[in-house]
Amino acid sequence: MDSMDVSFILNEYGEERENYFNAIAPPIFQTSNFAFKKVEDLRKVFEDEMSGYLYSRGINPTVDILRKKLAALDNAEDCLVFNSGAAAVFASVLASVKAGDHIVSVDRPYTWAQKMFDNILPRFGVTTTYIDGTKIENFERAILPTTSLIYLESPNSWDFALQDLSAVAELAKAEEITTICDNSYCTPLYQKPIDAGIDMSVQSATKYISGHSDTIAGVVTGTKQRMKKIFDSEYLNIGSGIQPFNAWLLIRGLRTLPLRLERISNTTLTVVAFLKQHPLVEKVIFPLDETFPQYELAKRQMKGACGLLSFVIKAERMEQVITFCESLDHILMAVSWGGYESLIIPRCASLTPADFDPANTEHRMLRLYIGLEEANYLCTDLEKAFSKIG
Ligand SMILES: *Cc1c(COP(=O)(O)O)cnc(C)c1O
Repeated sequence: MDSMDVSFILNEYGEERENYFNAIAPPIFQTSNFAFKKVEDLRKVFEDEMSGYLYSRGINPTVDILRKKLAALDNAEDCLVFNSGAAAVFASVLASVKAGDHIVSVDRPYTWAQKMFDNILPRFGVTTTYIDGTKIENFERAILPTTSLIYLESPNSWDFALQDLSAVAELAKAEEITTICDNSYCTPLYQKPIDAGIDMSVQSATKYISGHSDTIAGVVTGTKQRMKKIFDSEYLNIGSGIQPFNAWLLIRGLRTLPLRLERISNTTLTVVAFLKQHPLVEKVIFPLDETFPQYELAKRQMKGACGLLSFVIKAERMEQVITFCESLDHILMAVSWGGYESLIIPRCASLTPADFDPANTEHRMLRLYIGLEEANYLCTDLEKAFSKIG
């Protein structure tokens, strides 16, 4: 599909101001249902609920504006927006499998994707093989005659491992296997999986699209045919479509998405440079750093990367990692990312002190998210925490 200007998509596309008093900001259609004058019109929407306004578990005008913008950003024909990223993952995967099918997934996908593969789908006879997705041969080897879905997350939101999206898409097409890629890390501004031939792109809009740490939401994009199939079944049946107010918050978030990503990209470069020269840092893991093992693929496949990185600190004991995190004044300890505020999560939070092994770099690893603060403000905070363990 021809792509539109990003500025047009974010500022105008999908909005019909003349229909709502030429208001600049679109209204929130906070309504559960819509009235009809003619039985014939009601019949049409009963036949195809995606074709009109009937009930807001299905189609809602505020949500429609958001759907149009998000589809256009991904160069996709259509889009569905859910009440969480987890729901978007769940619906897109569920729509792609039936009893007896097999899924090939990258190692360590997002926690709730993995829990669905491990705990829910096996109850319905669907099994999953996890592979190291950095090598295309691993996909070739894992595919079975019953494989109906390849599930990707590139970059992965913990270790940032990438998959070659075009190569996987080509392989999957030849085998008639559906592909889904979790694109939360990059957003459509930095990577367009659909353009690489992936069937469905999924993101947690809770992260960069919202950008303000105040909304939970998720996105699936793909062809009209795929979106219609999911809408008629999983979307309406699970009933986890986004609510109009949250859709409005995401439209508002989209207005500043390029600006926020640009700002965070610049700050990230400064913070990465600061961490790399620090004597207490053993390693920095960031896809657009030359030391990253898949740096060449990252540069070829992604227009940018920002905000989310990991680093390994030099520590003998778990208490040093704990002291480091608890000594930060401004960088908050919290899950999630993509908002205005910088965040940190130590890997060792999921370990008991007795299991801590200083020889294991993962145990000394911290995931840092860089928000909208000044670079210097963040480096000063990090330096203060380092001084407590040095
Ligand atoms: C947060 C996240 C999700 C889940 O999204 P929610 O909006 O939290 O439900 C899925 N994938 C990735 C990579 C995420 O970071």
